[in-house]
Amino acid sequence: MNIDAIAATLRGRLAEVQAEIARLEQATIQPLSPKFADQVGDLEELATNEGLEVAHIHEAEQIVAALARIEAGEYGVCSNCSADIAPARLAALPTATRCIKCAA
Ligand SMILES: [Zn+2]
Repeated sequence: MNIDAIAATLRGRLAEVQAEIARLEQATIQPLSPKFADQVGDLEELATNEGLEVAHIHEAEQIVAALARIEAGEYGVCSNCSADIAPARLAALPTATRCIKCAA
């Protein structure tokens, strides 16, 4: 398992997620339309954006946690049973904290 490559992938994805959060935060401070009828659409759009933002913030947290585990030398160890997480699983899901058995 190439930890450096995984860390680089995680950092790249974190930068993308952070850029997306920044973009969505700008979108959410747009003023509402002057007409109430239009505001319904504005708020629906805002809720959609904020839903996305929550998902992105959650993903950013998972990535930061994975990078912290790499720094601490604890990466790739199941948080539940302390077994090594299979490299194929980490390749597919670099933020995985549990082995396939414990995640199931
Ligand atoms: Zn486990």
